[in-house]
Parts: sequence; structure tokens; C-alpha cells
Amino acid sequence: MAEKKESLVYIKHPEYAWVPGVLEKQEGDKATVKVFEYKDQQSIVSDGGRSSKGTTSVVVNLKEYPHKVLPLQNVDGNGNLCLYSDMISLSYLHEAGILYNLKERHKDGHPYTRTGDIIIAVNPFQWFNHLYTEEKRVYYSQKIVWADNKKDPREGLEPHVYEVSALAYKGLAFGGDDQSILVSGESGAGKTETVKIAMNHMASVQAGPSARSGQELDPVVARVVESNPLLEAFGNAKTRRNDNSSRFGKYLQLQFDTSEAKLMALGNKTESKCKLAGSKCDVYLLEKPRIVGHDPEERTYHIFYQLLAASSSEKGQFWSKLSNMTADSFKYIGKPCIDKIEGMTDAQHFEHTVKTLGLVNVKGDTLKEMMRAIIAVMLCGNLTFAALGGDKDKAEVVSKSELDDLAGLIGIDATTCSKAFTERTMKTKNETYKVPLNPIASKDAADALAKEMYGNVFLWLVRQINAATAAEDNYKGGSMANFGIIGLLDIFGFESFPVNRFEQLCINYANEKLQQKFTEDIFRSVQEEYESEGIELAEIMYDDNTDVLDLIEGRTGLLAMLNEECVRPGGNDQDFVQKALKINEKSPCLIVNKLNRMSFGIHHYAGKVLYDADQFVNSNTDTLPTDLEELCKSSTNSIISEKIDVVATTVGGKGGVKRQKSNLVGETAWGKYKNQLQSLMANLRKTNSRYIRCIKPNMVKKPVLMDHLATVEQLRCAGVVAAVTLSRSAFPNRLDNAVTRFRYSNMWDNKAFPSKRNSDMTPDQGARADIEAIMTCALKSKEETVNGKVVKAFVVGRTRTYFRAGALEFLEANRLENG
Ligand code: ADP
Ligand code: MG
Repeated sequence: MAEKKESLVYIKHPEYAWVPGVLEKQEGDKATVKVFEYKDQQSIVSDGGRSSKGTTSVVVNLKEYPHKVLPLQNVDGNGNLCLYSDMISLSYLHEAGILYNLKERHKDGHPYTRTGDIIIAVNPFQWFNHLYTEEKRVYYSQKIVWADNKKDPREGLEPHVYEVSALAYKGLAFGGDDQSILVSGESGAGKTETVKIAMNHMASVQAGPSARSGQELDPVVARVVESNPLLEAFGNAKTRRNDNSSRFGKYLQLQFDTSEAKLMALGNKTESKCKLAGSKCDVYLLEKPRIVGHDPEERTYHIFYQLLAASSSEKGQFWSKLSNMTADSFKYIGKPCIDKIEGMTDAQHFEHTVKTLGLVNVKGDTLKEMMRAIIAVMLCGNLTFAALGGDKDKAEVVSKSELDDLAGLIGIDATTCSKAFTERTMKTKNETYKVPLNPIASKDAADALAKEMYGNVFLWLVRQINAATAAEDNYKGGSMANFGIIGLLDIFGFESFPVNRFEQLCINYANEKLQQKFTEDIFRSVQEEYESEGIELAEIMYDDNTDVLDLIEGRTGLLAMLNEECVRPGGNDQDFVQKALKINEKSPCLIVNKLNRMSFGIHHYAGKVLYDADQFVNSNTDTLPTDLEELCKSSTNSIISEKIDVVATTVGGKGGVKRQKSNLVGETAWGKYKNQLQSLMANLRKTNSRYIRCIKPNMVKKPVLMDHLATVEQLRCAGVVAAVTLSRSAFPNRLDNAVTRFRYSNMWDNKAFPSKRNSDMTPDQGARADIEAIMTCALKSKEETVNGKVVKAFVVGRTRTYFRAGALEFLEANRLENG
């Protein structure tokens, strides 16, 4: 039967995460592993590295399993790596197995791989046009949406974003439930592209089963699809990691008219009755510091460069002086470090942006008003201040002509403007008085105004887009009650930098919330799998992250303590840290830094992060000084004068885009953000979620290359490894029943362990009875007695055999000896 062959393992490697090796001998807990020498990680290939020259032997302590050695690579009879498009089929599903499977597929031009219901998308950094053709889109729609209901319509299909979009559409159209697709990953991993790919697919599925390629887009669809990139002009920037990095989180809800979808569910599949009727977008945490300064290798938001690259006459229409100004004329902007984004110049982008703005009714005077608000933002950066008459505690504006320009643009007289920057109004119970600001504080005030104004422009634009695309306002067809939602979430992944600030804590908080839902969903899908296999599920244990969430958002958590510090007179960063540490000292997730009183750490699900509390109180306070607020309010530019609340653009499910008064907890930045997240999570919980985890395989944005350590780290942060661990916690390994039977039948003493097969059984049941007998025999020594009950080391399910930890390894080892 089985021929004797080498036992292959993965062994932990400091530079390459995991490398393949050959298990030479094993005595007790000590194993000797032969490891090959590699030129570089790229050359570790699918034969397990055996074509490399030179070997070293390493002795490892198996007690440290699974931290140092992982059992057996997933290899075929010739010792070659078996690749799977669905990693759920890997017999040994662990970090190393996932890594090598993804790596080989990535190299072969397969960016997408499944692990059960999760799609892992490894950024190819090269466009595979053949993956995104009209034919491909139609093919996935046909196979998944319009084909007759099979048990798993994905069978035989290569993993793809289109399968996720098609399943979501199908779930909504035929199942009647709202859907969501949650896309995550670090900056540059491909989230935004993935969302675009999914969205374009859904726009085409809805055209119906008989739609042909080249057909013109329905005008509602065109507006939804085309307005989406508009936010990129205002909310994306070039960073070191990504030339077109989104600096905000986005939840786009596609609204479908499902009023007649029942007809489709009843089998009428000749045309689509579930049509895209509109869309609505919520945004999260625009990165505001970028407005007033950026790293020389990065840029501020695209729109500034676009506007400044426009023709003189066009610029002059918005503001006459702008016609002979360039990026260099503004301190916030400066000469751009690159001149093309995604193959187009800033000038070309501007033309496109203006055209698209027209689609959402930003044109003529409205367009001018918006552009003037943006110019006002830039002008704030050119204001300079100096000590007033030699008194360094007082300031005056030095740049008089810039002040006049700004005053003119926002429609307020220059003296009022100047006062708003150089004085601050203080209020006590009984009186109101003014204190002068020094030049540095005055400059800060100018920056604060710029951030406020740009933030307003951004939110105003989101609202404008929503007003133009939302089904409620657009679609006079079916009744309001019949809108179904497919939500697309494109949100910043987990962040851990050398120095982590308030923004990182906010981002990581969002990721904890999403992780919580992810874990719940995975748990549910494991339950469903076991149910369909007919296996009892009594003992799945998993780590949830409620402890971390408690530490962050609990009654005495970090958020509560910071809010308290923000209202306390004299509140400061250090007191916040000390109070928060004291009251939460029992939290298992808190890390105390005795050496630095301004620092604290959190054990996040994705790893530990140290935060520097500098500016926490300031960042959280978030209220514009009254003087500047008054200035904004009295501006003649309506985009600047209108108070637009983030919460207001977010809250309010189907009712959508109307402004709402927020009476929610605290007006602090984090308080508002928490409310935003809460409403996001509440909305997501009403949907059926699917997950796409984007991976950035290397930091140099090159095709084919995969950096092992970075990839493994991201898999961990994305919760992929945790999900796998959870799904495999009771039974880490599994084999198809047919394979189990074929592979281990030579270990069966069928006299001592007769099969319970009988003539009443179906062939399938008979086969399972045989496997039960084979395994009982082969794994007799692995049985355990728990509370007087015998627990076998395996369970035979309807289609697969599930093995407890160590059982499959035991079978393999003994099969070899028998062989
Ligand atoms: P993120 O939104 O995660 O920061 P993006 O979606 O902006 O990342 O992607 C970053 C870059 O990666 C893109 O500009 C593009 O060059 C490349 N990229 C992303 N997805 C794909 C894909 N599916 N095929 C080819 N290149 C891609
Ligand atoms: Mg993005």
C-alpha cells in the first residue's frame, strides 16, 4: 500500500516566518529536523525547498508545538505541495499551510483564495485583465445568481470578488435579507479596488440574466457607479504606502428595489426584478492633520493639486487671483512629489472631477462656492503671525494681503478675521472676556479653521452625493418599504506604528468592533458546518475580545476616563493615563508602562500596541474655539457657515440623508465616533455579512513577490488565523471520507473491530460504518476517558472525517511504519 516516505514539516524561521523541512528522527519530545538553505524566500518553492543546496539539522522541542514546528506540509504522493482554491480542504490548516498555499497561488496569478466563506485577496500589483472582463462578470452571475439553486453554487468556480457580490445579490433578491460585504486590510492592500470591483459587478448583475455586454448603463446605476470615485478626489491622498490612499472609512449602501423580487424567488428568472435604485454613503474619520501639513514624500488631498493644475482661465473663474497661482504658492500644498495618480495627470483628473461633480448637481454657482471654500482652506496656511508690538504674549497678522484675500473669500471683514485668530473668548459663569493669543497659538487657530472648513466641505460633498443618488429621492417606483440593502464597507485596517496616537486608538477600536462580529459570524458558520455533517457540537471554545472592548468602551474604560478628563478644568493627558490605568488595573488587556507616565498599552486581538497619550485630551475635545465657530457661522459661503455633523450624516437607517439633531453622549470626538460605530454595527447586524480580507504581499508594490513575515502578520491581524483556529478548535484536521478510508484501511483489524455495515444501509451509510470501524481500530490508543465516558479521537461526519489534535499525525506516522 502506502510507500515509505519522508515526513515533512514546517519549522519556524526568524526571517521567512516558516520554512519546510524534513523530520529526521523523533525521540520523546525531541525531534531532529533537516532544513534546507535558501538563497532568499522567493526561492522556497512548492517542492518544499528540496531543490535548494545544503542542509542543516535543527533539534526542536515538540512541547513547543505549535509555536515552533507545524506538522506535515500538505503534500501529494510526490512530495509536491497541494494547492487548494478553498483552503478548508487543507488537511493541515495552519499559518504555514495558509502562507504557502497563498504564495504559490499568488505567483501563479490567482489573487483570490477561499477559506470557507472568507475570501482572501492578495494584491497582485498588476492588472489581470482577464479576471475582470464582462464575460467573467456574466459568468459568475449566471452560475451563482441565475442558475438553479444548488447546495453550494460556488462549486467548480475559482474564488473571486464576483462570487461574493453575486452571493450578496442572490441573498437579497431571493432570500430577502439585507447583505453586507466587509472588506479589510492595511493601507495599500487593495480594499478600495475590491469594493469597486464588487460594486461594478452588482451593477451588472442587476441588469438581469439576459443582459448582454456593451449595453448602456441605466442612468441611476451610472450615477451610483460614477459618483463613487468622487470621494477619492477629496478624501484620498498619496502616501508612502499607496499613491491613492483613502484617508477615511466608508460604508456604501447600495439600495435595491425588491418590491417584485418575490417573483424571481418563485422561479421567474427571465428578468431581474431586483434593481439598483440608488445608494447612500456614510464616512468615518477623515484624516484632518493632513490638511495642514504632510511628509515631503506624501501629498495632501488630491483635489488641491487637481484644482491648481487646472488652466489659468478655469482657475480664474473660481477666484481671479488663482489664475496665476500654483501648488508652490501655498504652504499647505507645495510642489507635488509625483505628477500622475493612477496614470492620469492632476489636470486630467480635475476635468473628470468637475464632470462628475456635475452628475451630483455640484455645478455653476455651487461648484464655485465649493472651490472658493477650498481656496480659503489653502489661504489659511499662508497666514503668518508675529508678536504684537514686541509683546510675545500677543500676536498680529503679518501677512496682510493674504488676510484680505481670505476675508474676501469667506465674506467677513479682515479685522473680524484677524481678531478670531489672535484672541480667544473665555466664559465664566458671570462674565465673558477676551484673552490674547501668542503667535504660535494664533497660527494653531488658523490651522484649526482650515481643518474645520475642509472637514465641512468633505461632509457637505458626501451629503450632496447622497442627495443625488439616494433611492428615496430618486426613485419614484416601488414603495419605500421595499428597499433592500447591500452594504460595502471599506475601512482602515488595524494599525500599529512606532508611535501610536489617538487616531490609531480610534482605528483599532473600530477594528475590535468588527472583529467581534467576525468571530460571531465564523462561530455561527462552524456551527452550521457541524450541523450539516451531523456532528454534535458541545465544546467549541474560542477567545472573544469582550475584555478589550470593555477596557476601551466600558463604564470606566479608556473612553469614559478620557471624556471625564476633557470636561475637568485643567484636564491633561498625563492625568488621563494615570486615572485610566488605576481604575482598569485589573483588566487583562491593559499594559502599564512604569517608565513613562504618558504611555499605556493594549493587548488587541491582533497584537499589542503601545499608545502615546500626547494630545489625547486635545484631539478628543474637538470643539472649535467659539471665536472660530462664530467666524464660520457668519461666513457668506454657505458650505463654510453650515454646521454639518458627522453623526447627522450617519445615523438614521433607511430614512437616510436628512439632517438629524444629535443628542447623543458627549460632544467629544471619540464620543461622536463611538456613536457612529454603534450605528454602523447595528446596521451591519441587520445584514448577512461576507468577508474579504485583503493582503499586501510586499511593501514595494511589486508583482509576484511575497514577503512571508509581512503576510503572516496580516493574516493574523485580519483574524484569518483566529478564524481558522476557531473553526478547527474541536477537530483541527479533517479528510474526506473517501480519502480516510483509502488511506488507512491497511490499519484495520476487521476481526477485532468489525464494521456495523448491514443490508438496510445505503452505500453511503455503509461506507461510514466501515470508516467508523477502521478508525476505532487505528485510533484505539488515542481514546480518552472523560468523566467515565470514552471520547474517540475522531468523528465520522456525512462527508468528512474529523480528527482531534494529534490523531491525524498519529495515523500518518503509523501508516508509514506499516508501509
Ligand atoms: P487600499 O484601499 O487597501 O489602501 P487600494 O485599493 O487603493 O488599497 O489599492 C492600492 C493599489 O494596489 C491600487 O492602486 C492598485 O495599484 C493595486 N491593486 C489593488 N487591487 C488590485 C487588483 N485587484 N489588481 C491589480 N492591482 C490592484
Ligand atoms: Mg483605500
